Amino acid sequence: MQDTTRHYINGQWVASIDGREVEVENPSTEKKIATITLGGVADTDAAVAAAKAAFPAWAATDPLGRITALEQLMEVYKTRAEDMAQAISREMGAPIALAKTAQVGAGAGHLKNTIRAAKAFAFERPLGDHAPGDMILYEPVGVCALITPWNWPMNQVMLKVAPALAAGCTVVLKPSELSPLSAILLAEMIDEADFPPGTFNLVNGDGAGVGAHLTSQKDVDMVSFTGSTPAGVAITKSAADTVKRVSLELGGKGANIIFADADEKAVTRGVRHCFNNSGQSCNAPTRMLVERTIYEHAVETARTVAEKTEVGPADIEGRQIGPVVSEAQLNKIQFLIKRGIDEGAKLIAGGLGRPDGLNQGYFVRPTIFADVSQDMTIWKEEIFGPVLCITPFDSEEEAITLANDTSYGLTNYVQTSNNARARRVTRQLRSGMVEMNGKFGGAGSPFGGMKQSGNGREGGTWGLEEFLEVKAVSDWE
Ligand code: NAD
Repeated sequence: MQDTTRHYINGQWVASIDGREVEVENPSTEKKIATITLGGVADTDAAVAAAKAAFPAWAATDPLGRITALEQLMEVYKTRAEDMAQAISREMGAPIALAKTAQVGAGAGHLKNTIRAAKAFAFERPLGDHAPGDMILYEPVGVCALITPWNWPMNQVMLKVAPALAAGCTVVLKPSELSPLSAILLAEMIDEADFPPGTFNLVNGDGAGVGAHLTSQKDVDMVSFTGSTPAGVAITKSAADTVKRVSLELGGKGANIIFADADEKAVTRGVRHCFNNSGQSCNAPTRMLVERTIYEHAVETARTVAEKTEVGPADIEGRQIGPVVSEAQLNKIQFLIKRGIDEGAKLIAGGLGRPDGLNQGYFVRPTIFADVSQDMTIWKEEIFGPVLCITPFDSEEEAITLANDTSYGLTNYVQTSNNARARRVTRQLRSGMVEMNGKFGGAGSPFGGMKQSGNGREGGTWGLEEFLEVKAVSDWE
């Protein structure tokens, strides 16, 4: 990998003008693995200026030309998959097997689905037979600031970079300061593919510096943000003065409703899903709601799964869960586990402290709380660690009420063999996504939330439309 202290601006790796260097840490070892530069206002302005200058030509490119460049990127991405897996695993602690498959695979999948969606997209289409001569043109929004988190780094970055470029926008990417290495690698790949200078720019930085400046910078037309709800609120306010389009993909507190007639693997699947990526997924099913007739059995099953869940360093090949991303995240999770205990939730597995034998690295014990009630902090707050809350319910109506009792609305889950009930319940869940009986959404399915989980939709056609303006034209003929 090239010098990680540089930013990628206007097709060049450039030294920072006004940044300051910080170390990147491996959360499995607490050791420093790289140095990056947190950019300043001048670095950010230089990247925005490059994107602004590149915009007219890139926007005017035939969509097929943009798609060809993305296809080249796809080829480069495949050849560097191993480097990408290593970068992700080392910077944010995903176990290497998970990094090679789901983490790297998500980036490739979103790139592929964007290409497919862009090929099928009618960028110019008639309004309809009732209005001869009226045309609708889909045009790029302009210069886009893409701000991303660390938990599924290439998943999040590719869900923005690929559709923005396919739409004809030019971009400034600011990845999380905790996971900059995968983004630097992607910039190297984009440099190798055939994109004109300035279409893609990368400035490393933190939220208060580069992030905040991007969201108020006058030449930025759109902010596409994935991250925490508080940051999403701050960004929306900051972007308001210049009336930027703001697309938000925020936190979640997904409910997993398990009815008594669910398949026998539903509880095990739910616990494993919650713990996957060490619980650091916005769509994790963190509140398991279980019909009372099978509640005790479900709690016992959950305990067994948690106790069997191995925890260990990310570089070991295996099915273990890795550390959480940082000391701050570890401390936040410990604080919330303590809150759970203090507020009277029943600790079934795991708990405070690090797992036995893991004294270095930010490891958390896979933790299950049962009898979690709606007034408890762990019911309400996104924990973002391997911590599952279980609560019983007596009726379908109660399950729906409990599931919707959250300020979030990203993904909910329903487990039942009764199709009519599955659909009835799904229609009443206030979330952008519902997954039924363990089946993931298909390729190109829209990803996004309701309520305080945000207003954006990423992936496939919906992800492309996020980066397009609609222009209505009359008398086109
Ligand atoms: P975060 O909000 O702390 O940071 C996310 C990004 O925003 C980082 O790049 C950060 O530097 C930047 N940032 C922070 N404050 C900012 C500000 N005021 N202005 C501009 N930029 C700012 O979140 P995180 O800890 O990196 O990620 C975890 C959060 O992301 C969780 O809440 C998770 O649910 C959410 N998330 C949501 C989705 C989704 O698609 N809905 C996907 C992944 C993660």
